[in-house]
Amino acid sequence: MAKNVILARMGEITLKGLNRGKFEIQLKSNLKYRLRNFGKLSIYQSQSRIWIEDKHGIENPNFADEESSKEILKAVTQVFGIVSASLARKFEGDLDSIKENSLEYVKGLLSEHPEYKTFKVEAKRGDKSFPYKSPQICDEVGGFLLDNFPELSVNVKQPDFILNIEVRDYNYVYAGKVMGHRGLPVGTAGKGMLLLSGGIDSPVAGYMMASRGMQLDAVYFHSFPYTSEQAKQKVIDLAKIVSGFSGKMNLYIVNFTQIQLDMVKNSPEDMLTITMRRVMIQIAERLAQKEGCKCLITGESLGQVASQTLEAINITNEVAKMPILRPLIGLDKEATCDLSRKIGAFETSILPYEDCCTVFVAKHPKTHPKHEDIEFAESKLDIAKMVEDGCTQGLEKIEI
Ligand code: ATP
Ligand code: MG
Repeated sequence: MAKNVILARMGEITLKGLNRGKFEIQLKSNLKYRLRNFGKLSIYQSQSRIWIEDKHGIENPNFADEESSKEILKAVTQVFGIVSASLARKFEGDLDSIKENSLEYVKGLLSEHPEYKTFKVEAKRGDKSFPYKSPQICDEVGGFLLDNFPELSVNVKQPDFILNIEVRDYNYVYAGKVMGHRGLPVGTAGKGMLLLSGGIDSPVAGYMMASRGMQLDAVYFHSFPYTSEQAKQKVIDLAKIVSGFSGKMNLYIVNFTQIQLDMVKNSPEDMLTITMRRVMIQIAERLAQKEGCKCLITGESLGQVASQTLEAINITNEVAKMPILRPLIGLDKEATCDLSRKIGAFETSILPYEDCCTVFVAKHPKTHPKHEDIEFAESKLDIAKMVEDGCTQGLEKIEI
């Protein structure tokens, strides 16, 4: 009896030296967590591959079902560290059994892709005691398929599909692969605090740092009722999308209303955004310390808006002790939008709910602020109290 299994390929991890084992253990643990809702599964490694299948002797209905096995496949490719994955059929037996199973597999494939007319067989023989060498397996199976599917022909240069056969402890047959998100397993590069707004940029920034192995917590500055309940829900939804890649996440919702109103009242309008950002950074840093995060992450990109000029960035940085990582700093908006679509966040990000930065935005913000400007802007504000209040008054913590 053949059954569905997933073959996943590791990428950059295989270039690691002595601590490769640590990365592999983390990757398997992340896969286990990502697949926790799919029932009992066995996840094991053999050389540079990871196999996912039923636990021995316990049939998993999610694997037997075509639709849900594809969902498992998709979830696997979302785990950082996986380069690509294929859904394969696994079975035992000799060359005849390989032929029969290949026939069944191709039948299924053609019913999904009636447009496929040409193919090629590629075989790998890991089990050297198998009495046929790889080229012989290709010839035998290829010939058998040609006999059974008169509509198909062989094209070795540009086939519509490649049928892969692997002979190891068991036999495997599959065609095609789904590309993964590459990167390094989350949990191998510490933890960062993402400043998550409802926009396009910050979810992508979080995704990018997670792709380098960083675990994430997030903080959102909410100015209810100036920013609506829907705006907050949108951020929660975005946090869920990012956590599909980065795993468990704590999302802090800071009650920012009073702080912003104080700023609007007591500091010059043209410095409002930067004054606000400096307070945001300090609150985020406190929360980061509490959670054991070692850096802050924002979705800023050089020159995109007034607060993202080099001068404004410098003045914002001054209040932070932790590094502020800005993975989008050199990306243009279109490139960020492409990434946003790729991670499935775009449709949510463009929902038209206001953000606290847009509600209280100045008509002519200073694009090249000087030191005197910020000193003057903050002179009538009790920044320490604002930061303290932000970290306590009405602070909400949601586990994502
Ligand atoms: P985004 O698309 O992520 O909203 P943006 O292009 O709108 O970014 P800004 O509004 O200047 O740019 O925000 C820059 C960064 O500051 C954001 O990417 C985010 O990291 C952080 N940020 C802005 N507003 C908030 C907020 N309300 N809560 C948390 N972080 C915020
Ligand atoms: Mg924004």
